Amino acid sequence: MTSIKGSCLCGSVEFEISAEPKFVGNCYCEDCRKSSGTGHCTNIIVQADGVSVTGDLKFFDQPADSGNVISRGFCPDCGSAIMTRNSVRPHMVGVRASSLDDPDQITPGVNVYTCRAPSWDQPDESIASFDKMPPPAPASS
Ligand SMILES: [Zn+2]
Ligand SMILES: [Zn+2]
Repeated sequence: MTSIKGSCLCGSVEFEISAEPKFVGNCYCEDCRKSSGTGHCTNIIVQADGVSVTGDLKFFDQPADSGNVISRGFCPDCGSAIMTRNSVRPHMVGVRASSLDDPDQITPGVNVYTCRAPSWDQPDESIASFDKMPPPAPASS
């Protein structure tokens, strides 16, 4: 696959995704909305060792509904959201599609937390949608 590149707004943080994304999802939860600057965020879920980052990210830790700690990484200079880590899956990261150089390199396949979608940012119903989180995938996958 061609690598997927992106950066923050000011350019001091750059990243490159070299692994195949596991999936791409739109999340409408309140935390994603507030940290996104708009109605939802779009995350590219990929193995952590398939993403290389140059520059320093600052992480903000917040417990999720599940009790897992979600760490949101952003550029300390311009504030652009770059990636999210989940304490329960330390080997995976969610890279914000908003920070891609070419956002058309990915296509979201799932919507989560649609129950919290604002009236002015409604989910695309043509892809799989879940009120909250889908049931956990089998451990083997
Ligand atoms: Zn920046
Ligand atoms: Zn979310």
